Amino acid sequence: MSETHWIGAHVSAAGGIANAPLNAKAIGANAFALFTKNQRRWQAAPLCPQQIALFQQHCNDAAIPAEAILPHDSYLINLGHPGDEQLDKSRQAFYDEMVRCEQMGLKLLNFHPGSHLKQISVDQCLARISESINFALDRSTGVTAVIENTAGQGSNLGHSFEQLAQIIDGVEDKARVGICIDTCHLFAAGYDLTSQAAAKQSFDQFDNIVGFQYLKAMHLNDSKTPLNSRVDRHQSLGAGYIGSEGFSYIMTLPATQNIPLILETIEPAIWPQEINWLRSQAKR
Ligand SMILES: [Zn+2]
Ligand SMILES: [Zn+2]
Repeated sequence: MSETHWIGAHVSAAGGIANAPLNAKAIGANAFALFTKNQRRWQAAPLCPQQIALFQQHCNDAAIPAEAILPHDSYLINLGHPGDEQLDKSRQAFYDEMVRCEQMGLKLLNFHPGSHLKQISVDQCLARISESINFALDRSTGVTAVIENTAGQGSNLGHSFEQLAQIIDGVEDKARVGICIDTCHLFAAGYDLTSQAAAKQSFDQFDNIVGFQYLKAMHLNDSKTPLNSRVDRHQSLGAGYIGSEGFSYIMTLPATQNIPLILETIEPAIWPQEINWLRSQAKR
Protein backbone atom coordinates (compact mmCIF):
# COMPACT_ATOMS: atom_id res chain seq x y z
CA MET A 1 0.00 0.00 0.00
CA SER A 2 1.54 3.31 -1.02
CA GLU A 3 1.45 6.19 1.43
CA THR A 4 -1.31 8.35 0.17
CA HIS A 5 -4.45 10.20 1.04
CA TRP A 6 -7.81 8.58 0.38
CA ILE A 7 -10.27 11.44 -0.09
CA GLY A 8 -13.95 11.23 -1.01
CA ALA A 9 -17.47 11.98 0.13
CA HIS A 10 -20.55 10.25 1.46
CA VAL A 11 -22.09 9.44 -1.91
CA SER A 12 -25.55 8.23 -2.90
CA ALA A 13 -26.23 4.52 -3.26
CA ALA A 14 -29.69 5.18 -4.76
CA GLY A 15 -30.54 2.47 -7.26
CA GLY A 16 -28.20 -0.01 -5.53
CA ILE A 17 -24.85 -0.23 -3.73
CA ALA A 18 -23.03 -0.69 -7.07
CA ASN A 19 -23.82 2.94 -7.92
CA ALA A 20 -21.82 4.33 -4.98
CA PRO A 21 -18.35 3.69 -6.48
CA LEU A 22 -19.56 5.16 -9.79
CA ASN A 23 -20.68 8.31 -7.95
CA ALA A 24 -17.34 8.47 -6.16
CA LYS A 25 -15.36 8.14 -9.37
CA ALA A 26 -17.42 10.90 -10.98
CA ILE A 27 -16.26 13.45 -8.38
CA GLY A 28 -12.58 12.46 -8.57
CA ALA A 29 -12.63 10.59 -5.25
CA ASN A 30 -10.37 7.68 -4.28
CA ALA A 31 -12.46 6.94 -1.17
CA PHE A 32 -16.16 7.06 -0.30
CA ALA A 33 -18.80 6.49 2.34
CA LEU A 34 -22.23 4.93 1.77
CA PHE A 35 -25.27 3.44 3.46
CA THR A 36 -25.52 -0.25 2.54
CA LYS A 37 -29.29 -0.10 3.22
CA ASN A 38 -31.96 2.55 3.78
CA GLN A 39 -30.59 4.38 6.83
CA ARG A 40 -34.07 5.27 8.14
CA ARG A 41 -35.42 1.69 8.21
CA TRP A 42 -34.73 -1.28 10.46
CA GLN A 43 -35.15 -3.97 7.82
CA ALA A 44 -33.52 -4.46 4.44
CA ALA A 45 -33.49 -7.20 1.86
CA PRO A 46 -30.28 -9.24 2.03
CA LEU A 47 -27.63 -8.35 -0.56
CA CYS A 48 -27.51 -10.74 -3.50
CA PRO A 49 -24.22 -12.07 -4.96
CA GLN A 50 -24.79 -10.23 -8.26
CA GLN A 51 -25.15 -6.85 -6.51
CA ILE A 52 -21.98 -7.50 -4.51
CA ALA A 53 -19.99 -8.59 -7.57
CA LEU A 54 -21.04 -5.45 -9.47
CA PHE A 55 -20.18 -3.26 -6.46
CA GLN A 56 -16.71 -4.80 -6.26
CA GLN A 57 -16.18 -4.51 -10.03
CA HIS A 58 -17.05 -0.79 -9.91
CA CYS A 59 -14.67 -0.27 -6.97
CA ASN A 60 -11.90 -1.97 -8.96
CA ASP A 61 -12.66 0.15 -12.02
CA ALA A 62 -12.40 3.28 -9.86
CA ALA A 63 -9.19 1.95 -8.22
CA ILE A 64 -10.76 2.35 -4.78
CA PRO A 65 -9.53 -0.29 -2.27
CA ALA A 66 -11.84 -1.76 0.38
CA GLU A 67 -9.76 0.00 3.06
CA ALA A 68 -10.78 3.38 1.59
CA ILE A 69 -14.52 2.66 1.88
CA LEU A 70 -16.42 3.71 5.00
CA PRO A 71 -19.97 2.30 5.25
CA HIS A 72 -22.22 4.08 7.79
CA ASP A 73 -24.89 2.27 9.82
CA SER A 74 -28.58 3.17 10.21
CA TYR A 75 -29.57 6.29 12.18
CA LEU A 76 -32.13 4.22 14.15
CA ILE A 77 -29.52 2.16 15.98
CA ASN A 78 -28.70 3.17 19.59
CA LEU A 79 -26.01 0.84 20.95
CA GLY A 80 -26.29 2.40 24.40
CA HIS A 81 -30.09 2.28 24.68
CA PRO A 82 -31.32 2.26 28.30
CA GLY A 83 -34.18 -0.16 27.48
CA ASP A 84 -33.19 -3.83 27.26
CA GLU A 85 -35.60 -4.71 24.47
CA GLN A 86 -34.64 -1.71 22.32
CA LEU A 87 -30.98 -2.39 23.04
CA ASP A 88 -31.39 -5.96 21.73
CA LYS A 89 -33.06 -4.64 18.59
CA SER A 90 -30.19 -2.19 18.02
CA ARG A 91 -27.55 -4.85 18.63
CA GLN A 92 -29.18 -7.22 16.17
CA ALA A 93 -29.48 -4.46 13.54
CA PHE A 94 -25.84 -3.43 14.05
CA TYR A 95 -24.72 -7.03 13.73
CA ASP A 96 -26.74 -7.31 10.49
CA GLU A 97 -24.97 -4.19 9.18
CA MET A 98 -21.62 -5.75 10.02
CA VAL A 99 -22.56 -8.92 8.14
CA ARG A 100 -23.50 -6.85 5.09
CA CYS A 101 -20.06 -5.19 5.19
CA GLU A 102 -18.39 -8.57 5.55
CA GLN A 103 -20.34 -9.90 2.55
CA MET A 104 -19.28 -6.85 0.51
CA GLY A 105 -15.61 -7.44 1.37
CA LEU A 106 -15.43 -4.18 3.35
CA LYS A 107 -13.15 -3.59 6.33
CA LEU A 108 -14.83 -0.80 8.34
CA LEU A 109 -18.26 0.05 9.76
CA ASN A 110 -18.82 3.61 10.98
CA PHE A 111 -21.49 4.31 13.61
CA HIS A 112 -22.56 6.84 16.23
CA PRO A 113 -21.89 5.46 19.72
CA GLY A 114 -25.29 5.90 21.42
CA SER A 115 -27.49 7.96 23.74
CA HIS A 116 -28.51 7.51 27.38
CA LEU A 117 -31.86 9.32 26.83
CA LYS A 118 -31.50 10.64 30.42
CA GLN A 119 -32.55 7.23 31.78
CA ILE A 120 -29.18 5.75 32.77
CA SER A 121 -25.82 7.22 33.79
CA VAL A 122 -23.05 8.12 31.36
CA ASP A 123 -20.90 5.25 32.66
CA GLN A 124 -23.74 2.74 32.29
CA CYS A 125 -24.43 3.91 28.75
CA LEU A 126 -20.74 3.74 27.75
CA ALA A 127 -20.55 0.18 29.16
CA ARG A 128 -23.60 -0.80 27.11
CA ILE A 129 -21.98 0.61 23.97
CA SER A 130 -18.78 -1.41 24.58
CA GLU A 131 -20.84 -4.57 25.13
CA SER A 132 -22.80 -3.90 21.92
CA ILE A 133 -19.52 -3.69 20.00
CA ASN A 134 -18.36 -6.96 21.64
CA PHE A 135 -21.65 -8.61 20.62
CA ALA A 136 -21.09 -7.77 16.92
CA LEU A 137 -17.33 -8.49 16.88
CA ASP A 138 -17.82 -11.88 18.57
CA ARG A 139 -20.14 -12.99 15.79
CA SER A 140 -18.28 -11.62 12.74
CA THR A 141 -14.82 -11.46 11.20
CA GLY A 142 -12.75 -8.94 9.29
CA VAL A 143 -14.75 -5.75 9.91
CA THR A 144 -13.54 -3.06 12.34
CA ALA A 145 -16.13 -1.17 14.40
CA VAL A 146 -15.39 2.54 13.85
CA ILE A 147 -16.90 4.79 16.52
CA GLU A 148 -17.69 8.35 15.38
CA ASN A 149 -17.21 11.19 17.83
CA THR A 150 -20.37 13.25 18.34
CA ALA A 151 -21.15 16.95 18.82
CA GLY A 152 -22.68 16.10 22.20
CA GLN A 153 -26.15 17.17 21.16
CA GLY A 154 -28.90 16.01 23.54
CA SER A 155 -27.83 12.84 25.38
CA ASN A 156 -25.49 11.61 22.62
CA LEU A 157 -22.29 10.23 24.08
CA GLY A 158 -18.82 10.04 22.53
CA HIS A 159 -18.26 13.81 22.43
CA SER A 160 -15.08 13.77 24.53
CA PHE A 161 -11.83 11.87 23.96
CA GLU A 162 -12.22 10.45 27.48
CA GLN A 163 -15.61 8.90 26.60
CA LEU A 164 -14.22 7.42 23.35
CA ALA A 165 -11.27 5.94 25.28
CA GLN A 166 -13.68 4.50 27.86
CA ILE A 167 -15.72 2.76 25.13
CA ILE A 168 -12.55 1.29 23.59
CA ASP A 169 -11.42 0.19 27.04
CA GLY A 170 -14.55 -2.02 27.33
CA VAL A 171 -14.01 -3.65 23.92
CA GLU A 172 -12.33 -7.06 24.08
CA ASP A 173 -10.84 -7.19 20.57
CA LYS A 174 -8.83 -3.95 20.44
CA ALA A 175 -7.57 -4.82 16.94
CA ARG A 176 -11.09 -4.43 15.52
CA VAL A 177 -12.20 -1.16 17.11
CA GLY A 178 -11.31 2.36 16.01
CA ILE A 179 -12.40 5.98 15.82
CA CYS A 180 -13.72 8.21 13.05
CA ILE A 181 -13.13 11.87 13.94
CA ASP A 182 -15.75 14.17 12.46
CA THR A 183 -14.19 17.66 12.51
CA CYS A 184 -17.55 19.46 12.73
CA HIS A 185 -18.60 17.34 15.71
CA LEU A 186 -15.15 17.76 17.31
CA PHE A 187 -15.36 21.55 17.04
CA ALA A 188 -18.97 21.68 18.25
CA ALA A 189 -17.91 19.54 21.23
CA GLY A 190 -15.33 22.16 22.25
CA TYR A 191 -12.07 21.14 20.53
CA ASP A 192 -10.62 24.17 18.75
CA LEU A 193 -9.48 23.70 15.13
CA THR A 194 -9.44 27.33 13.97
CA SER A 195 -5.64 27.63 13.59
CA GLN A 196 -2.69 25.28 12.99
CA ALA A 197 -1.67 25.67 16.64
CA ALA A 198 -5.18 25.04 17.99
CA ALA A 199 -5.67 22.03 15.70
CA LYS A 200 -2.29 20.62 16.75
CA GLN A 201 -3.26 20.95 20.40
CA SER A 202 -6.60 19.17 19.82
CA PHE A 203 -5.00 16.30 17.88
CA ASP A 204 -2.16 15.98 20.42
CA GLN A 205 -4.86 15.59 23.06
CA PHE A 206 -6.50 12.87 20.95
CA ASP A 207 -3.17 11.07 20.67
CA ASN A 208 -2.58 11.28 24.43
CA ILE A 209 -6.04 10.15 25.52
CA VAL A 210 -7.11 7.76 22.72
CA GLY A 211 -4.03 7.22 20.52
CA PHE A 212 -3.49 7.72 16.78
CA GLN A 213 -3.33 3.94 16.31
CA TYR A 214 -7.13 3.98 16.73
CA LEU A 215 -7.75 6.68 14.10
CA LYS A 216 -9.38 4.65 11.30
CA ALA A 217 -11.28 7.35 9.38
CA MET A 218 -12.27 11.02 9.33
CA HIS A 219 -15.29 13.06 8.33
CA LEU A 220 -14.04 16.42 7.06
CA ASN A 221 -16.75 19.01 7.61
CA ASP A 222 -16.66 22.68 8.51
CA SER A 223 -19.16 23.87 11.14
CA LYS A 224 -22.10 26.27 10.87
CA THR A 225 -22.11 26.65 14.65
CA PRO A 226 -19.39 28.09 16.93
CA LEU A 227 -16.89 26.29 19.15
CA ASN A 228 -18.52 24.26 21.93
CA SER A 229 -22.05 24.92 20.59
CA ARG A 230 -22.94 21.21 21.02
CA VAL A 231 -24.98 21.58 17.83
CA ASP A 232 -24.21 19.45 14.75
CA ARG A 233 -24.54 21.56 11.56
CA HIS A 234 -22.14 20.83 8.72
CA GLN A 235 -20.77 23.50 6.39
CA SER A 236 -18.56 23.49 3.27
CA LEU A 237 -14.80 23.55 3.96
CA GLY A 238 -13.55 27.04 4.76
CA ALA A 239 -17.05 28.51 4.83
CA GLY A 240 -17.79 27.81 8.50
CA TYR A 241 -16.45 28.63 11.96
CA ILE A 242 -13.48 26.25 11.58
CA GLY A 243 -12.05 27.84 8.41
CA SER A 244 -9.38 26.39 6.12
CA GLU A 245 -6.29 26.43 8.39
CA GLY A 246 -7.43 23.52 10.53
CA PHE A 247 -8.07 21.36 7.45
CA SER A 248 -4.63 22.25 6.03
CA TYR A 249 -3.09 21.04 9.28
CA ILE A 250 -5.09 17.79 9.19
CA MET A 251 -3.80 17.01 5.68
CA THR A 252 -0.20 17.24 6.91
CA LEU A 253 -0.76 14.80 9.80
CA PRO A 254 0.85 11.40 9.04
CA ALA A 255 -2.10 9.70 10.79
CA THR A 256 -4.47 10.89 8.04
CA GLN A 257 -2.70 8.83 5.37
CA ASN A 258 -4.27 5.55 4.22
CA ILE A 259 -7.54 6.08 6.04
CA PRO A 260 -10.82 7.23 4.42
CA LEU A 261 -11.21 11.04 4.60
CA ILE A 262 -14.87 11.67 3.88
CA LEU A 263 -16.69 14.92 3.08
CA GLU A 264 -20.22 15.25 4.44
CA THR A 265 -20.29 18.92 3.48
CA ILE A 266 -23.52 20.52 2.37
CA GLU A 267 -22.85 21.34 -1.29
CA PRO A 268 -22.22 18.16 -3.30
CA ALA A 269 -21.74 20.28 -6.44
CA ILE A 270 -18.39 21.54 -5.08
CA TRP A 271 -17.13 18.16 -3.76
CA PRO A 272 -14.66 17.87 -6.71
CA GLN A 273 -13.13 21.26 -5.79
CA GLU A 274 -13.05 20.39 -2.08
CA ILE A 275 -11.29 17.09 -2.85
CA ASN A 276 -8.73 18.86 -5.06
CA TRP A 277 -8.12 21.50 -2.42
CA LEU A 278 -7.52 18.85 0.28
CA ARG A 279 -5.07 17.06 -2.05
CA SER A 280 -3.20 20.34 -2.63
CA GLN A 281 -2.88 20.87 1.13
CA ALA A 282 -1.44 17.38 1.60
CA LYS A 283 1.34 18.16 -0.92
CA ARG A 284 2.52 21.39 0.65
ZN1 LIG B 1 -19.95 12.48 10.42
ZN1 LIG C 1 -22.77 15.53 11.75
